[in-house]
Amino acid sequence: MDLEQFRREAHVLVDWMADYLRNIRSFPVKSQVSPGEIMRQLSVSPPPEGEPFSEIMGDFERLVMPGITHWQHPSFFAYFQANTSPPSILAEMLTATIAAQCMIWQTSPAAAELEEMMMHWLGQMIGLPPEFDGVIQDTASTATLCSLLTAREKMSDYQINERGFIGDENFVVYASSETHSSIEKAVRIAGFGRDSLHKVAVDGSFALQPGALLNAVKGDLQRGKKPLAVVATIGTTGSHAVDPLGPIAKICAERQLWLHVDAAHLGTALLLPEYRWMLEGIESADSFVFNPHKWMLTNFDCSAYFIRDRNALLRTFEITPEYLKTGENRAVNDYRDWGIQLGRRFRALKLWFVIRSYGVNGLQAIVRRHIHLAQELASEISTSPDFELLVKPVANLICFRYHPSRIDAQEQLNELNAALLQRLNATGKLFLTHTKLRGDYTLRLCIGQTEVSARDVEQAWELIRSVARSL
Ligand SMILES: *Cc1c(COP(=O)(O)O)cnc(C)c1O
Repeated sequence: MDLEQFRREAHVLVDWMADYLRNIRSFPVKSQVSPGEIMRQLSVSPPPEGEPFSEIMGDFERLVMPGITHWQHPSFFAYFQANTSPPSILAEMLTATIAAQCMIWQTSPAAAELEEMMMHWLGQMIGLPPEFDGVIQDTASTATLCSLLTAREKMSDYQINERGFIGDENFVVYASSETHSSIEKAVRIAGFGRDSLHKVAVDGSFALQPGALLNAVKGDLQRGKKPLAVVATIGTTGSHAVDPLGPIAKICAERQLWLHVDAAHLGTALLLPEYRWMLEGIESADSFVFNPHKWMLTNFDCSAYFIRDRNALLRTFEITPEYLKTGENRAVNDYRDWGIQLGRRFRALKLWFVIRSYGVNGLQAIVRRHIHLAQELASEISTSPDFELLVKPVANLICFRYHPSRIDAQEQLNELNAALLQRLNATGKLFLTHTKLRGDYTLRLCIGQTEVSARDVEQAWELIRSVARSL
């Protein structure tokens, strides 16, 4: 493709993109294809000769689009959202065009320095203490793995990187029973073994019980194990539970445990001063992660990882082969040394575009609006005779179920709600997912789409009620 054709096609694509976002309500939210349906239509071997762009684009519309679940649809209430926004998309167009590898400072000084400043901005925006340094990771999963690896190295005096495990390490990592699966994954990959993840009991609001944590630590010490780290969650995936950071941080400080805070989704609510209570105790945490790529209008991937002891991080990850040695090594940040990947995308650009386009006040207003919509719907659900809230929503995640008075057995209610979810998602008009809370099949409805309106939420609620009645 020559540049003149590129220019023409790009103009057409920009129109496609704007039309897509404008007409997005006309698509089924959740893709309605069946397994294998897309694969069967794809050519089984690559084309020997190049094909015209018009044909490729035609197949994109014909083959790919039906198999897309529309995450930017305002009626996408499933999982946690991964929202985007026009400035974020525009920045990604530039990133893809420049296509720089941002592994070290000299491979694009602007990328390194913009990343440093954006992490500084984000830290201020969510009220983190200024001692934290930050780096953009691809995902919270990677950030948590980096955190546990750094804890492992600091605790072993950087010996496991040198000689591997010798077998008597016996490290234990603690997290609540509601913790995200990425914690277990990190524990496995870091070489501790799955049995080294000690899941601590939660209270009635699904938050970690500090007393149970302390008992677990004491018990493990008695058994000759080495308590290493605690992962606290601000906003669990199941129900948005907020682990009490203050008492957890105190236990960690007294026992020299590493404290990592996973605020992947709910961290964006920290933009609002009225949510800063969730950070109480952060002064003694070692690391913190939240994902602007979930709720802060910045398209995937962009995970903000903050660390207090940057030297420990660098000692864990730094490797400098001869061909990458430069004179600037100490004066600048070479983000290759701040995590797992060598090659890195220029992810700071979209943050810069998003934060400057909306301003802090603009982002706060959007997040507040989402929370307001969720709180309004939650109060309607709680006063509706055939429905119940299963937890009081902290922010924009509603956990509820259909509970007609004629039915009381848990098993029956679970089946009824599973059927309700399946019917609702099959309409294509909205997309919800579920979890189990105390064994109860729970519908999760998370409101955080960039353009979601009160009307979208009302229509979802009307649909939920009418489908439930028809069961
Ligand atoms: C979404 C989520 C994760 C995983 O985030 P990725 O960026 O997809 O790895 C981890 N923890 C919590 C609490 C989450 O909400």
